[in-house]
Amino acid sequence: MNKGLILVISGPAGSGKGTVNKILRETGEYIYSVSKTTRSPRPGEVDGQDYSFVTKEDFMRSLAANDFLEYNEYCGNFYGTPKSTTEKAVENGKNVILEIDVNGARNVKKNCPDAILIMLLPPSFEEQEKRLRGRATETEEKIQSRLMQTHYEIDQLSMYDYVVINGDKEAAKAAEDIMAIVRAEKSAEKRNPDIKQKYFNTDKKETQE
Ligand code: 5GP
Repeated sequence: MNKGLILVISGPAGSGKGTVNKILRETGEYIYSVSKTTRSPRPGEVDGQDYSFVTKEDFMRSLAANDFLEYNEYCGNFYGTPKSTTEKAVENGKNVILEIDVNGARNVKKNCPDAILIMLLPPSFEEQEKRLRGRATETEEKIQSRLMQTHYEIDQLSMYDYVVINGDKEAAKAAEDIMAIVRAEKSAEKRNPDIKQKYFNTDKKETQE
């Protein structure tokens, strides 16, 4: 069986990652890696579904136990990707989505060079700021910190394999663009090591002889 793909989807605050990933999740074709975080839940976020919300002590215990594929501190909170979900999914031929920041993406690429890195962007910085303010769930200080972070994130763009723009009310199109990337990557020659065997049906012939 071919292995599943590791899809890293990053994007600055207000890029619409959550909405796009929800669409991808609803196709049933992707396993979503639920990160642990020390940040407090936003209204509507479900523990165990959007994140596992944990205390700093709990997070540090997982870190000491080497349970994370990668982790990062972002705007004062810790976020970490549990190893187990990704490893299990890939071995079972399932595609797994890691919705993580640029530092996490760099670490995943280092540990899993086959991972596909996708950056989701709003159409412009102006539009991003509008979305962030529209969300109205954060203090002005947090909004400023997330907007500042965007400069750093955009500076890391060359590390990514693909850039997808999430236009206004176009989350379904952005999700479709990501699915098209996955279809293309699945067809890559290097991801189909058993194609010759399958084509000539070698296994079957050998057992018939
Ligand atoms: P938010 O607080 O807006 O949900 O997430 C803040 C940032 O942390 C986003 O860029 C998000 O993608 C990233 N993030 C979420 N989970 C993880 C994780 O497990 N690891 C890393 N490195 N970043 C994460």
